Amino acid sequence: MEKAIDDYDMFSPDDRLLVAVSGGKDSLALWDMLAEAGYQVDGFYVGLGIGDYSDESGEYVRAFAAERDLHLVTVDLREEYGYDVPTAARATKRVPCSACGMSKRHLFDKAALDGGYDVVVTGHNLDDEAAVLLGNVLHWDIEYLARQLPVLEARNGFPKKAKPLVRLTERETAAWCVIRGIDYLVEECPIAAGNRHLHHKDVLNSIEKESPSTKSAFYLNFIDNMAPLLSGQTAGATGALNDCVRCGAPTTNEVCAFCRLVDKASAHEPVPVELVLGKRGRR
Ligand code: SF4
Repeated sequence: MEKAIDDYDMFSPDDRLLVAVSGGKDSLALWDMLAEAGYQVDGFYVGLGIGDYSDESGEYVRAFAAERDLHLVTVDLREEYGYDVPTAARATKRVPCSACGMSKRHLFDKAALDGGYDVVVTGHNLDDEAAVLLGNVLHWDIEYLARQLPVLEARNGFPKKAKPLVRLTERETAAWCVIRGIDYLVEECPIAAGNRHLHHKDVLNSIEKESPSTKSAFYLNFIDNMAPLLSGQTAGATGALNDCVRCGAPTTNEVCAFCRLVDKASAHEPVPVELVLGKRGRR
């Protein structure tokens, strides 16, 4: 982790960090590693309303913070914005991960800016980043490729973001949790089944089995050799962003995607997670 922080100039001990925690192994391992290394780091948890999964994940996060006397900031989608992820998925007729990811990104940014934090840090590991990279390459999505960096500087109303675990595999973060006695939620999100990144992880794992180190070469060589050629290819870099007229967040539209999501999802009758599971199961 320290090598990634140094190599990519992520942050220094003087910075205030906000780590996004889900209750899973990666984010809790990251929070523990950063605190152990002496960084000033608080946690941020979003209650997504995904049935028992969210209830349990919140319990793991709160217990972790309380046991170590660490400061945790929480937001609950249903209580504070009038919707949850299953309802947002049904209201927008899109896969749950789409509404979920957008909500989390917006709320992480907002919490960091409101709380005066210098950097938002997330527990994305090498497996996550390589899988996302494979998906972006398969679609040659230049906008996403240009932004798939271990660190993104603050710009146009977005806080600085960093991924200190990009050199570590998920087996290594799990091992850290075992060694350190960290209790984490082992179950995957119940509505993750249609997430294409899971399939890309399987593909990369089968390649890795035949050709060890391919995964790290694929991702780390992209960062060193390819990413510099793509700098300047994002909407933010080309100056195409303006402020949302409702919440002030950076957007390419008049009203940002998060405010439009809140409008739609909060007006929809609440949808239990079982109904989203049932619909996906019939596909
Ligand atoms: S798998 Fe998808 S729906 Fe579940 S927590 Fe992750 S992004 Fe949200």
